[in-house]
Amino acid sequence: MSYATAVHETVAALRSIREQWAELLLAIETPPADVWPPRQLAHTLRADDDQQLVVEDRAPLVLREHPAPLNVDALDAGLAIERQVFALADTLAAAIQHAERGDPRRWDYQHPGAADARGTAGSRAHGLHFACVWVEGRVLGEDTEPEQQLDGPLAAPPFAPLPPHLLHEARRTARLAEGRLLRTLGLDQRTTSVPDRPCPWCGGELTLHTDPDEAPRVTCSGGRGCSAPVPLDRTERARVWEWGDLPELIAALGVDVATAA
Ligand SMILES: [Zn+2]
Repeated sequence: MSYATAVHETVAALRSIREQWAELLLAIETPPADVWPPRQLAHTLRADDDQQLVVEDRAPLVLREHPAPLNVDALDAGLAIERQVFALADTLAAAIQHAERGDPRRWDYQHPGAADARGTAGSRAHGLHFACVWVEGRVLGEDTEPEQQLDGPLAAPPFAPLPPHLLHEARRTARLAEGRLLRTLGLDQRTTSVPDRPCPWCGGELTLHTDPDEAPRVTCSGGRGCSAPVPLDRTERARVWEWGDLPELIAALGVDVATAA
């Protein structure tokens, strides 16, 4: 694999983690979803954004108390993902960081002897979103040129370029973390049959299809015999509710998406 391809894949995985992180934090505070309505539809179709979290403001899971998480699997996944990404930042910083203490671009390690909680946590206190952005900057080779100081000679660059073996370590870690996050949210590539909720038009079996790169869709096994007002899918054996048609199906099934979330 070329260096450029590895950079591209690593950045894509890190951005995916950042984009889905708020959903994971919501999932921890929500009882595990039934198969129907699937969590990913419930969140995505939610009419208002009241529950959208500003993830940058949230303390990292590894530094928080969790007296009674409603979804232990989601919490476990979140803790594991934080640990992996934080440890990756530690590894990269140890190898290529020259940024001075106090430089906001610097990644600070945990420091158990520090006077306060924030000092003890180092850059972990800024949370997973910050750590992902920081790792992305190293992967993209940002701040690796000597810098002109206000009144003086060129200063050494804050970071050295990332050597190939560490780029591949970053890629591996980011993709593992992304995979776990998507699986936990049910957004990985899978098909799920919907029990006890037959097609309102023909009584056929409904199947939910998810894929990290596509919007969720639902198919009915009734095919041409199904009178639902949606087209047949590519196989021409099933009716399909694509993204824009899903609210109509959900309404027909009598599900209150907002409260079900
Ligand atoms: Zn049908």
